[in-house]
Amino acid sequence: MMSMGKTILILGGGTGGVVAANILRKVLPKEHRVALVDRRDSHVFLASLPLVLAGRRRPEQITRSLQRLEGPNIQFFQAEVEQFNPDEKTIRTDQALLSYDTLIIALGAQQQGISGQSQAFNPYNLHEATLLHKELAGFQKGHIVLFISSLPFPGAIAPYEIALLLDSYFQKRGLRRNIQISFITPETRLLEFADPRYSERLTSIMKGRGINVLTKRKAQSLSQGNALALGDGDIPGDMFIGIPHHMGPAPFRDSVLAGPSGWLKVDPASLATCIPDVYAVGDATGIESPVGTWIPKVGFFAHYQAEVVARNLALRYANEEPRFSFVGGASGASMLSSFSRGCFASVDAYASPPRMTLSSPTRLAYLTKMLFEKYWLRSWF
Ligand SMILES: Cc1cc2nc3c(=O)[nH]c(=O)nc-3n(C[C@H](O)[C@H](O)[C@H](O)COP(=O)(O)OP(=O)(O)OC[C@H]3O[C@@H](n4cnc5c(N)ncnc54)[C@H](O)[C@@H]3O)c2cc1C
Repeated sequence: MMSMGKTILILGGGTGGVVAANILRKVLPKEHRVALVDRRDSHVFLASLPLVLAGRRRPEQITRSLQRLEGPNIQFFQAEVEQFNPDEKTIRTDQALLSYDTLIIALGAQQQGISGQSQAFNPYNLHEATLLHKELAGFQKGHIVLFISSLPFPGAIAPYEIALLLDSYFQKRGLRRNIQISFITPETRLLEFADPRYSERLTSIMKGRGINVLTKRKAQSLSQGNALALGDGDIPGDMFIGIPHHMGPAPFRDSVLAGPSGWLKVDPASLATCIPDVYAVGDATGIESPVGTWIPKVGFFAHYQAEVVARNLALRYANEEPRFSFVGGASGASMLSSFSRGCFASVDAYASPPRMTLSSPTRLAYLTKMLFEKYWLRSWF
């Protein structure tokens, strides 16, 4: 019987990989096995990075060992994924060559800094978010410049959340009047995916909190002399917080799975790629909405997509028809607007035209986000 068992290889232990592994553990017939690979030994709950930089979470509170996913038919390998060999159905890692019958790619987006990025803190990296908190704790006055290098970026609402939490952080410390906060983005308007009225709502929340918002600006480089070069001038600052460029994962960017933009092409409902038995989920994919824009790169989508792929696989391996589809929608997510309030967000990315909404700040939205973090870190590990 053992020889009939198939191997499902999951690349990445982020949101998509962790969901896929957990669902397969529950629903996959027992003769099959699952292997999950990640370069790190632990999972980071990225949605809480803004709380790390604001000093409300320590790294160990938002990370979980990936070994905790292991079980009778699930194995974890810590290794760097290097190369995809579709003809042999293998993945080369820096540790070993891994074979698969079915492959689930959940490697997320890869980051690349702008020129001079080392002068800035990357709030999308746990280590740098931790260093940033230390720096903020000693920061008494001056200009903080928060910039988004390019579109698309993961976490549709995360940059705005970071800006608002910076404001709250300095308010609490009684230093806000000594501090200027600028938010620089290439978007034509904040929350570009949403209807303009929600962009206006968000802009007025940010401006109401004294944040200087500059749209349609392209961060080009950061100089030693502490200025951010934009196409049309420089912005001087005393501290820079920069969300780097994001792109499809290197081991696949030049493969037949990637489109011209480098993001992985998938069927929008089944997440199947153009190669049989290979699926891709989450931030690594580039899925177009009905109007041709990229659908947002959010954890809720990575989660639902991984669930669809895992459940359909279990059905296929049990000789049943796959019947789950990703429908491009999520609601109940929330953006923290302070340490006590948040705004509910919902997305319907496959609607024509696509829709995204953002509520006014409420206490309930804040509590929902706090509960979700607890649920995530308890239920999946
Ligand atoms: C600061 C921040 C806040 C966010 N807030 C929210 C939010 O409030 N709500 C929401 O829905 N979404 C949010 N997001 C977005 C959400 O975190 C992502 O959409 C989600 O994590 C994507 O999941 P994924 O599985 O595709 O990739 P990831 O979670 O990024 O996981 C990819 C994994 O692959 C591993 N990996 C990558 N390359 C290799 C390689 N070559 N070899 C081995 N391992 C590799 C990485 O170590 C990582 O563990 C936020 C993101 C950030 C950065």
